[in-house]
Amino acid sequence: MKELEDRIRKDGIVKAGGVLKVDAFLNHQCDTQLFDHMGAEWARLFADAPINKILTIEASGIGLACMASRHFGNAPVVFAKKAQSINLDGEQYSTTIHSFTKQREFPVIVGRRFLSEGDHVLILDDFLANGCALEGLISICESAGATVEGIGIAIEKGFQSGGDKLRQRGYHLESLARIVSMDDETGQIEFA
Ligand code: 5GP
Repeated sequence: MKELEDRIRKDGIVKAGGVLKVDAFLNHQCDTQLFDHMGAEWARLFADAPINKILTIEASGIGLACMASRHFGNAPVVFAKKAQSINLDGEQYSTTIHSFTKQREFPVIVGRRFLSEGDHVLILDDFLANGCALEGLISICESAGATVEGIGIAIEKGFQSGGDKLRQRGYHLESLARIVSMDDETGQIEFA
């Protein structure tokens, strides 16, 4: 998606260790018009899938997923929580994943009443690196007996292994921007 690639070139900051900072428009300050255009693009890419629910993970996925929902007939957005809380009552699906950016393990939790057999789910997230976050969300869908109709990603770092692994497993995965290389010394970013 050219608009997203242009924005990454303009405002993205390449950090050491293969990390791209996009907090000017994606995951701290949010450009809602760009989010709306991204939602429209996912709707075009997944037009053939019978999606009735969007699943994402807190925090950065929530804004993207809510804007995207407007393009999927206002499908409800469920976001997985990364910590237990007294507000998380009732039965839960839960798994553990490793965070690429925070370099630690944390839980992924979804209340059972918000995901069930018969749901046709589009999983959305801001980044795809090694795929751990997505593996967690897929595993929760499996536990619920829900069907993963597709996976939509804003920025895939193609030089990390997550995207290839998930495509090999047969998932319909669409990334709006796929980075093949980036250089933290020059700031150069190359897209597929
Ligand atoms: P994965 O689980 O695929 O290894 O990493 C995906 C998660 O890590 C995303 O949900 C995102 O929050 C975070 N992440 C991975 N790589 C980056 C990055 O380069 N920049 C930022 N801002 N977040 C990232």
